[in-house]
Amino acid sequence: MSDLVIRHTRIPGWDGTVDVLVSNGEIVQIGTELECSCKEISGDCALLVPGFVESHIHLDKACILDRCHNEAGTLEGAIKSVGIAKQKFDEDDVYQRGRQVIERAVIQGTNAMRTHVEVDPVIGLKSFDAILRLKEDFAWALDLQICVFPQEGLTNFAGTQELLEEALRRGADLLGGCPYTDSDPAEQIRILFGLAVQFDVDLDFHLDFDLDPSWNHLDEVARQTLAHGWQGRVAIGHVSKLSALKKEDLMKAVALLKRCGIALTVLPSTDLFLMGRGHDHLVPRGVAPAHLFYQNGVCCTVATNNVLNPFTPFGDCSLPRMANLYANVHQLSTPMELEACFEMVCDAPLRLINHHRSIAPGQEATFVALQADSGGQVVAEIVRPIWGMKKGRMTFKHAPGVLFPPQP
Ligand SMILES: [Zn+2]
Repeated sequence: MSDLVIRHTRIPGWDGTVDVLVSNGEIVQIGTELECSCKEISGDCALLVPGFVESHIHLDKACILDRCHNEAGTLEGAIKSVGIAKQKFDEDDVYQRGRQVIERAVIQGTNAMRTHVEVDPVIGLKSFDAILRLKEDFAWALDLQICVFPQEGLTNFAGTQELLEEALRRGADLLGGCPYTDSDPAEQIRILFGLAVQFDVDLDFHLDFDLDPSWNHLDEVARQTLAHGWQGRVAIGHVSKLSALKKEDLMKAVALLKRCGIALTVLPSTDLFLMGRGHDHLVPRGVAPAHLFYQNGVCCTVATNNVLNPFTPFGDCSLPRMANLYANVHQLSTPMELEACFEMVCDAPLRLINHHRSIAPGQEATFVALQADSGGQVVAEIVRPIWGMKKGRMTFKHAPGVLFPPQP
């Protein structure tokens, strides 16, 4: 018994238009002119893709420009002003702001998300509890993965480790790190690897968030990854130092990430906003060249990071827009380059968050329809999705724009 058929849609790897038969939330069959008597919806000859996947976003500190600003525009200024605002966060406040971001993301075609949540003795588990509720309340539209992390440092802030452990026991999916704010960065990295093994979870670090190539924390993360056999289970975000490396050193970093199975996430909007302050001309862009890593077999993603806060006072939660920004900054334009940018907000982040789904029989009927011929076109033109579906149920739909030319 089938529930519905989507008529005349396009799927990468298939010639022409096809129909997709869906039953009990799963794709049953894909083919041309499928016969069935179930409900039909028009595929509008649109391109079906698995959906956009947000691999790095902070729901807990989104939408707070009404209460704090980053006048210096630096990373330190952002951390300090949010740290002060955080003292007044409560669970309902975090829930409401997080909800705004999730709703925006869903109508932009995002159907899976990894969110970083700050845990420390100031905020306790209030933000974490709010995000746990959002995970449950929005399960109809998006899969939310929760990464708890010590933004204010771990070894220098007594009580933080116990709270991280408590969050993991209560349903956090993985652990994050932020060595650059710790008084003992290497020890933070070692403690987090120990906890990751103890709780059998993946790791996702905020790492090397400056433009000085003379030192890094990447080497310690790589060492610990190999020592614990955690290849394929570690991601690093920002790593803006990579943008300051000469080609020869950069290719050594590519080889290192590949050997250690470490994924790289680039947050172009934040990196552009915070890096290079203090330069009054030829301001460095500070966006790690993820496409070079991606070409060489490293799992790479492009993500939003922050929305409307002192780290990034912009944001509409559109991942095609973020991929377009990345392509623009790195001067990418060939069909292959733009397709790679698309993959870095679609297929690659799906792998990063361990969701191995695709558009094929037997897979869940979760996808997004785009009026475009290719992923590269989606990036070049920032194509907005027409509609999306999760497990066979429509989750959002946009009405087409209408022009009203004057009558002759
Ligand atoms: Zn972040």
